[in-house]
Amino acid sequence: MSSIPRPLTDAPSNFRSHRILNFIGGSFAPPVRDEYLDNYCPATGLPYCVIANSTNEDVDKAVDAAALAFPSWSALSTEVRADYLMKIAAGIAARIDEFAAAESYDQGKPLWLARSVDIPRAIENFRFFAGRILHHEDAFTHFDRAGAESFNMTLREPFGAVGLISPWNLPLYLLSWKIAPAIACGNTCVAKPSELTPLTATLLAEVIQNVALPPGVVNIVHGEGARCGQRIVEHPLLRLLSFTGGTVTGRRVASTAAPMFKKVSLELGGKNATIVFSDCDFDATVQGVVRASFANQGEVCLCGSRILVERDIYDRFVAAVAKAAAANGRFSSDPRSAVDAAHCPTGALISRQHLEKIRGYVALAREEGGHILCGGASPEIDAPHLRSGYFYPPTIISGLPPAARCNQEEIFGPVVTIAPFDSETEAIHVANGVPYGLSCSIWTSNIFRGNRVARKVHVGYVWLNCWLVRDLRMPFGGQKASGLGREGGSHSLDFYTDLKTICSKL
Ligand code: NAD
Repeated sequence: MSSIPRPLTDAPSNFRSHRILNFIGGSFAPPVRDEYLDNYCPATGLPYCVIANSTNEDVDKAVDAAALAFPSWSALSTEVRADYLMKIAAGIAARIDEFAAAESYDQGKPLWLARSVDIPRAIENFRFFAGRILHHEDAFTHFDRAGAESFNMTLREPFGAVGLISPWNLPLYLLSWKIAPAIACGNTCVAKPSELTPLTATLLAEVIQNVALPPGVVNIVHGEGARCGQRIVEHPLLRLLSFTGGTVTGRRVASTAAPMFKKVSLELGGKNATIVFSDCDFDATVQGVVRASFANQGEVCLCGSRILVERDIYDRFVAAVAKAAAANGRFSSDPRSAVDAAHCPTGALISRQHLEKIRGYVALAREEGGHILCGGASPEIDAPHLRSGYFYPPTIISGLPPAARCNQEEIFGPVVTIAPFDSETEAIHVANGVPYGLSCSIWTSNIFRGNRVARKVHVGYVWLNCWLVRDLRMPFGGQKASGLGREGGSHSLDFYTDLKTICSKL
């Protein structure tokens, strides 16, 4: 078993004796070179365990285990595979409090958020794809041209061992979003969680071991992206890659994988617009926009980071949204024990480096002439044990032109801009004026206008009068620099299988 500190404790003096190991061929294994990275708790800024810093040798072992498991796993009926997914879902559900505590400890998000969103959604990913694979129907045609009458059917074939790489912001949710459909389709996998958030992946490996999933079907390697992540991308046996992370990394993944003719799905960064029309339901929109801006400390790729407000209500909206956001900037409770948003609306950022990046963008906004409406400085922290934590309050900045760097670059934290617009055309123009195209939320009581604008914004996902409502049957992915390909529902089954057409002459 991997050695997660149990119970999770602040910076035990022997933290290096708690080692997060790889999970290969059904067993936990130390990295071949026995090298480890310190793993920090964002709420305290202190290390509390170490994780395997895997190298090519570890990835190669994991690929070998996945390749060995593939023939028998893919030969199982879909019912049997679906049953395993349901058992994994039940295994996580039975330990939901442990998973939520680990996610909060490792990522910095408040416990209540991990307990109510991240872990339930991870469970749902396994349940959903168990059902989806069972109820899938493929095309079958009767071709009736004289002399060539035939039946045509499509056959879905899994790829074999596949590579899955995920980021740190929604650790278990995004890892399970890849593992569940990949193995449901009959693939085996080598998965790499972010080196900043290894904990729930390790708990998942324990669940997988407990439900006796055949060894090698799911392998998990930990370590730095440039080392073991890069090896996953380069490994010739992994013909399919699903990657979620930053656009810069995604470009590198794409350029390595393309000449190898790998099938690749890239879910990348965003710079999403939130468009507020003056006919919106004002109070509900203020609440919705604050959530869309600052949920999970703004560390959701789908967060709206540019709020565009119709000029008629601009001043009133700015005042209301700044007041509501400032109320979320209270840091009086430890996020790791916070059972509700009332006591701890906002957690800690993922790392010191990320905190410095966020501070840097706020400094840049000031240099670019922006006005800080709320937040904009590190908060006072009452609890002594949290004073080295990576906390930053919800921050709203006005007065920046669309071309300002803070309006163009992904900040990926609790910092958003706000600006007025005078016409629907202008709002659409500004919303589209960035390299990214992930999502957009539109707030209006005019459903015709909402749909009209939705069609014109260049993004993969639009929410009207809501945010982050996810129907797993719908395609998910971005346009432009936000990614390539779609996953979700039948799109995941399309991605994780290769199609073959069989034509039988009658
Ligand atoms: P990142 O690109 O730094 O890392 C993502 C993963 O890739 C990590 O596991 C990392 O170790 C690995 N990695 C890094 N370099 C690699 C390389 N050369 N080869 C292979 N793997 C490598 O991103 P991050 O900082 O972990 O996550 C934040 C980013 O993820 C943001 O840009 C955010 O918008 C994006 N994101 C996108 C979505 C989406 O669905 N579109 C969802 C969540 C996060």
